[in-house]
Amino acid sequence: MISERLKKLGEKRSTIRELFEYGKLLKAQYGAENVYDFSIGNPSIPCPEEVTEVLTKLITEGDPVQLHSYTSSAGDPAVRGAIAAYLNEKYGIGAEADDIYMSCGAAASLTISLAAVTSPGDEVIIFTPYFPEYKVFTEQTGSKCVFVPLLPPAFQPDFAALSEAIGEKTSALIINSPHNPTGSILSAESLEKLGSLLREKEAAYGRPIYLISDEPYRELNYTDTPTPFVFPYYADTIVCYSYSKSLSLPGERIGYILVNPASKDRKALYAAIQGAGRSLGFVCAPSLLQKAVGQLQGRLSDISVYDRNRKLIFDGLTKIGYEAAQPDGAFYLFLKVPGGDAIRFSELAKKYRLLVVPSDDFGAPGYVRISYCVETEMIRRALPAFEALYREILSNG
Ligand code: PLP
Repeated sequence: MISERLKKLGEKRSTIRELFEYGKLLKAQYGAENVYDFSIGNPSIPCPEEVTEVLTKLITEGDPVQLHSYTSSAGDPAVRGAIAAYLNEKYGIGAEADDIYMSCGAAASLTISLAAVTSPGDEVIIFTPYFPEYKVFTEQTGSKCVFVPLLPPAFQPDFAALSEAIGEKTSALIINSPHNPTGSILSAESLEKLGSLLREKEAAYGRPIYLISDEPYRELNYTDTPTPFVFPYYADTIVCYSYSKSLSLPGERIGYILVNPASKDRKALYAAIQGAGRSLGFVCAPSLLQKAVGQLQGRLSDISVYDRNRKLIFDGLTKIGYEAAQPDGAFYLFLKVPGGDAIRFSELAKKYRLLVVPSDDFGAPGYVRISYCVETEMIRRALPAFEALYREILSNG
């Protein structure tokens, strides 16, 4: 019998997708240059040239049988070794190839990690606002989502609410820094507090609580302070990494899961990740891409464009009178909606051919998400439309 739950999930398009499709219609009607689509988080800059060079070399000079054959389920050991060596040099974490599981991006890494550390009936803590797929991935494991707010303006965790929310059924907590949709970065101070609270709760409830750190935006940080790496703050941590944003390769579906070598159950945890990957059919991530990223450690797309866009949109919107916290990372700006009704704002914005995502979709009311991974010129063209929208909202109360 067809699963009603999954059928509904398949039939329901996310608001982001709806807006994206609506944008296509508007573009056909008014011309692409007259539509200001800030709905989707697709990298707008190309991958570094080295990516094309490495892929070309692999294809033209590699042994075609070996290149396209199955790797081991967890991924090519040499590639995992190269990633471990890079991470050890950068973060001094003592990782080995067998702490890494190659995967189809952060999405697959999250589904595998959640399956590995939860049982039906468990609870998973998710900070709001959140990337909507966290709910889908968590519920698929039979676990329940428990939501805890990030507090504006800096969007750091509400630790009092977090302490209340963690209970005997809590098996995992998901963090995401730099953050979609707010652009905030978890500070070292927040991670310090988070680590000590989780250790305290692990001791109180006599069970491990796994911290799942979703890091597709790790390098997209525009401040002078590097994104704090989470392992030193808490041992029972799993990192879900992706090359979708750092190398602008979202369609190639490549990333990895990294188990903290300091985790109490390091070997058992890695075995559960292998088992979860196997049971979900996520084995042997794309071989060609594995081999490419193995040679591309430390490379990054030219993110200066995002930084330029970030300043332009933040300055432009706040000058008009809008309120927003300056985003430090990722490529999203979280704009406070005058009057507080984000759905109405997003609907009204369509009149000005502005496409922005209401924050209700991210589990928090009162804001819209603006993805500024777009052409810089589009931002310049869009600012007068944002201004007209602002005036209309204010005049209508
Ligand atoms: N996590 C967050 C917070 C994201 O924003 C995204 C994609 O936009 C993902 C995970 C999924 O990334 P991937 O393309 O690596 O599956």
